[in-house]
Amino acid sequence: MTLEKVRTILVSVPLMVALWPALPASLRQTHLSASGQSAPEVPATGPDSTLSVAAVGDALIRSRIAQYDDPGDPGFQRMVKVIRDADVAFVNLEGSVLRFSEFKGWPAAEHGGYWQVSPPEVAEDLKAIGFDLFNTANNHTADWGVEGVRMTHETLDRLGLIHAGSGMNLGEASRPGYLDTLEGRVALIGLATTFSPSSRAGAARGEVMGRPGLNALRVDRTYEADAATYDMLGALAPKVGGQLPTASGAPLRIFGVSVRPGRETRLIERVNARDEERILREIRNASRMANYVIVNSHSHEPGNQFETPPPWLVEFMKKCIDAGATTYIVHGPHRLRGIELYKGRPLFYSVGNFIYHEELWDVLPADQYDVFDLPDTSLPSDFHNARFQGGTVGAPANPVYYQSVIAVPVFRGSSMIELKLYPVDLGQHAARPQRGTPRLADEAMGRKIIDEMARLSARYGTSIVYEGGIGVWRASTKTSSQEE
Ligand SMILES: [Zn+2]
Repeated sequence: MTLEKVRTILVSVPLMVALWPALPASLRQTHLSASGQSAPEVPATGPDSTLSVAAVGDALIRSRIAQYDDPGDPGFQRMVKVIRDADVAFVNLEGSVLRFSEFKGWPAAEHGGYWQVSPPEVAEDLKAIGFDLFNTANNHTADWGVEGVRMTHETLDRLGLIHAGSGMNLGEASRPGYLDTLEGRVALIGLATTFSPSSRAGAARGEVMGRPGLNALRVDRTYEADAATYDMLGALAPKVGGQLPTASGAPLRIFGVSVRPGRETRLIERVNARDEERILREIRNASRMANYVIVNSHSHEPGNQFETPPPWLVEFMKKCIDAGATTYIVHGPHRLRGIELYKGRPLFYSVGNFIYHEELWDVLPADQYDVFDLPDTSLPSDFHNARFQGGTVGAPANPVYYQSVIAVPVFRGSSMIELKLYPVDLGQHAARPQRGTPRLADEAMGRKIIDEMARLSARYGTSIVYEGGIGVWRASTKTSSQEE
């Protein structure tokens, strides 16, 4: 909810009283609420009401950021205003958020690449700068095991923040979080296509309890090889611990996968039918229970270096819209991807990074140090130095990780009527303690980011233009001139 809307209501009550005798009878038809104050006959949520959503990608947040919301830091303050001015604001929260001194669990053997944990104050800061919708399904959901998942929920619940994507069983992980606003009820459904295998939530059945974890959309992968490749793999299999077909027509096993003979050599990827059906069912339910349904997934596929999503994800996203989603937001690849409009609703193929404190994690399990063979006397900064070599290799050396947007679509009913993209600079060249903290980009970088979004979106027929320092969506020249 915007402060301005609250203010408008507060201001309009005395104004109505002052103007009362002068108002036409039709406008004076009100009913008295329990408190005795007059309330309008027509609810705010009607066919003409709109909802604006500020959507960002990954928050890998380890240090506090609310201190930058200060006139001395105008880039940060202007960014916060964009988030707060939207009716609702969405972020992907990556990692566990808990008081480590109270943590009674263990780091998981299977994790999201690195074990990420932050103190509850970072969630307080995300709330303070305006976020109210949190996705918790991603490859870092269960870095700190079931207890990490449980305590993160506790942190978010204590702050009254709406979250979706993980739970104490599959039912809880799959269900929507609901946020009630003056503009209508918003449902959030979170899921991950990239996740560590043991972080997948399981359903309760009979006398067996459900398994805590995240709402997973598995992708079933099968391999086919043309005749020449199949023969080559057949000759290789016995030498590398593989297995030749046990019956005619059966696949051969090599490098941990099954390969069938086919017309061409290819990887076939299909979303798991059971997962897909469960998620679509939840979307259909949410669309009957709320005015707007925001679906989002953490999807690194096909890899962070690619600027387009895999075909199976695009197909799945469109099925979600068909089932009743208002929009689908992808995050995970740490880079921007394009925007496609499908049936008047936007598919964000990746909204990129938002906060990237990747060099500030300071509670690391022994295995983390083992990755770089560091001695027992090593401390967190030694690990980060070994991983990023002072920011000269890996993510900190890649500008793509530090240039992003806040996407602000505005919805009326089932359609997007407006879209603005605010370019964000995560400070690639700042010192380590500040690197990865977002601010609205300056003009030069802002134009570069928006031009990139225009290029990435053009392939889907979506027109983004740079205007007044931000990116603006143009439905099409024809439509906009007709509307004017
Ligand atoms: Zn991720």
